[in-house]
Amino acid sequence: MYDVVIVGGGPAGSTAAKFLAERKRTVLLIDKAKFPREKPCGGGLTAKVLTEFPYVKHNDLIESYTYGGYVYAKDMSNRVKIKKDTPVMATVLRKTFDAGLVKLAVDQGCTLLEGRKVVDITFSKDHVKTTVDTGECIESKVVIGADGIWSITRKKAGLDPIKNTFAVSLFNEYKMDEQLIDQYFSSKRHGHLHLKLEGLSGYGWVFSKKNHINIGVGEMKPYHATNHTQLTPIFQEYIQRLKEERIIPE
Ligand SMILES: Cc1cc2nc3c(=O)[nH]c(=O)nc-3n(C[C@H](O)[C@H](O)[C@H](O)COP(=O)(O)OP(=O)(O)OC[C@H]3O[C@@H](n4cnc5c(N)ncnc54)[C@H](O)[C@@H]3O)c2cc1C
Repeated sequence: MYDVVIVGGGPAGSTAAKFLAERKRTVLLIDKAKFPREKPCGGGLTAKVLTEFPYVKHNDLIESYTYGGYVYAKDMSNRVKIKKDTPVMATVLRKTFDAGLVKLAVDQGCTLLEGRKVVDITFSKDHVKTTVDTGECIESKVVIGADGIWSITRKKAGLDPIKNTFAVSLFNEYKMDEQLIDQYFSSKRHGHLHLKLEGLSGYGWVFSKKNHINIGVGEMKPYHATNHTQLTPIFQEYIQRLKEERIIPE
């Protein structure tokens, strides 16, 4: 019997696990993946994250800091430059960032059960039973659902699914020579945000990290939308345009 079972070891789950374990609760953190694992993401942390969770700065989780960048109008003809003396964003590689956060939780005494998918959760008055795909059943006083967008916890708890909007995106992270990144994005690691790119109800982004750049396009859609935008040609066109504008090298 654990005090708390947490389903999902992404940033939400591992952070909850760390804080609860610090407060001497018995915690089991379950994830269907084994860490380190990949996660589709731009890997940009807002400055607020650094203030609220200052320990991330001291545990080798941050790749680099971005001190500003450019936000472009729809047709790229106009842009606004943002330049700050303090970081507007920190960048991370999700593979190492998420694994690092899980390690911080484990270091505090949380138990990790990885490579196990939660397949069922039943709720009683004073305890919860969580079943994983090997058939193992774990009891706890409380369960925390941190299992992302398709959350089984939310479903089993009878909570409403998200019905308003969802985001669809396509991105890639490219390894790049650090000096070349210095040359194109400066040591201040400027970012680029292209609003309403190609008419998308979203944006395109270029984030520069220590020795990676992360490029993506994405848009928000009503949940029941049937007209899905083909993002692949938009992404390819975006890469071409970024090269022409000399935002990225050939
Ligand atoms: C393309 C893209 C770009 C993004 N860029 C940014 C960005 O630059 N900055 C930013 O702040 N956010 C960004 N986001 C959003 C960010 O990735 C999410 O907000 C964040 O990952 C949510 O964290 P989480 O811990 O709630 O869930 P997740 O990170 O989704 O973690 C959920 C975990 O639950 C596990 N899980 C799911 N189901 C089960 C199950 N049944 N049993 C066991 N385990 C399960 C999964 O394996 C996963 O590890 C981006 C998202 C996308 C898709």
